[in-house]
Amino acid sequence: MLVFLSHCLLNQLVRAGGSFTPGVTGRLLELLSKYPVFIYQLPCPEYFFLGLREKKTQDVWESIPGFKDFVSNLADDLEKKVRQIIEDKDLILVSIARSPCCSTGMVHRGDRLVKGRGIWVRELEKRFKFDIIEFDFKKVDESLHKLKEFLNKKVK
Ligand code: SF4
Repeated sequence: MLVFLSHCLLNQLVRAGGSFTPGVTGRLLELLSKYPVFIYQLPCPEYFFLGLREKKTQDVWESIPGFKDFVSNLADDLEKKVRQIIEDKDLILVSIARSPCCSTGMVHRGDRLVKGRGIWVRELEKRFKFDIIEFDFKKVDESLHKLKEFLNKKVK
């Protein structure tokens, strides 16, 4: 099994607006280290495109010239890079709640929080088949518990 980790789970320096939640990376790695899984840190599309930045809603990201093409090309590049190491492994994506790019549940559009997929996740779904566990930086215990339950069922 190969776990695609959203970039900021291992490196919170790339999060928008300087957000930081202490302890997340250590606890996540401690949990994953108990299972026979491989991990792969995905690129952060927002950071790779704009660098350090303030938070933006999904509709704003979609309106930035070139961003959607950039994300699509990044996904093409990723597909080429990981093809060999995936082989026939099951994939899990650990997505990020409410992120304009990496969410798999809800996204901010304008001043509303609505159901929707992140821009990056939509591109990943065109290229890979994976199970999804969404991580919420505001609900770390719950998120880790969900991941643990999932791994217990899938891997053990
Ligand atoms: S774009 Fe994705 S990887 Fe980058 S900071 Fe946001 S949630 Fe994390």
